[in-house]
Amino acid sequence: MGWAIGGRQDLDGNEDSVFRLPRSEFVFRFWFMVGSSRFRLPAVVLLGAFHFASGVTADESRFRVMPLDASGVIPYFIADGADRSQFRASDTQLAIWALDEWQRRTGRVLRFERAEREESALLRFIWLPWAEDAALGRMDPSTVDGHPAASITVRPDENQFRPTVRRGVRVDPLLRDVVLYYVCLHEIGHALGLSHSSNPRDVMWPGNNGVTLPIYERYRHLIQTRDDIPRTSWLSHDDLARFTEIWSVP
Ligand SMILES: [Zn+2]
Repeated sequence: MGWAIGGRQDLDGNEDSVFRLPRSEFVFRFWFMVGSSRFRLPAVVLLGAFHFASGVTADESRFRVMPLDASGVIPYFIADGADRSQFRASDTQLAIWALDEWQRRTGRVLRFERAEREESALLRFIWLPWAEDAALGRMDPSTVDGHPAASITVRPDENQFRPTVRRGVRVDPLLRDVVLYYVCLHEIGHALGLSHSSNPRDVMWPGNNGVTLPIYERYRHLIQTRDDIPRTSWLSHDDLARFTEIWSVP
């Protein structure tokens, strides 16, 4: 989704394989150790069991913001845009609408509430200037008083969108809102524990080489004016099903 000189066009910097890399490293070392010894057969059995167990654990231990209490409250804070970020005051509304869509369409398991102070927020939105080595959106896990929290970074400078999208925004300014709303929804999804989808119909799809104009246009066609954004459903059936799968685990 992001575009930069050098061709990096990932949607964001969020890695889906963080839990897998150490595991394969472990498997390799373990295999090397048992090498040609007589323990090889039991080792294979053990390895299979470990692989299965760690797979289950990996999925359940994926990061997600946790509500403050059983009522599902997640306080959020939306910062003002940094200098040169090309942030507009109205972008705040896009982030709020994106939170609202997740809340509304997941059966109100969660309640996003605007925090008085930034320090007490579990979900923070930050708007930064474009950077060559950065992506359009990003979610970073953090903690607030030992509680799982997340920072979402958005880089809203439409002059740096990939060329086809940038040209689209020039003739159709509403396309800028479409892009930023998509980014907000996507990054909130990461904060809620969702990984990337391989289906272009899902908001959690990161694109093969970034999200391209046709994807944004599909959402663009859902709306006529900006005010239609909060009245429209962007999250797919599978986005929501994956949310339910994660959040139904106590
Ligand atoms: Zn992503």
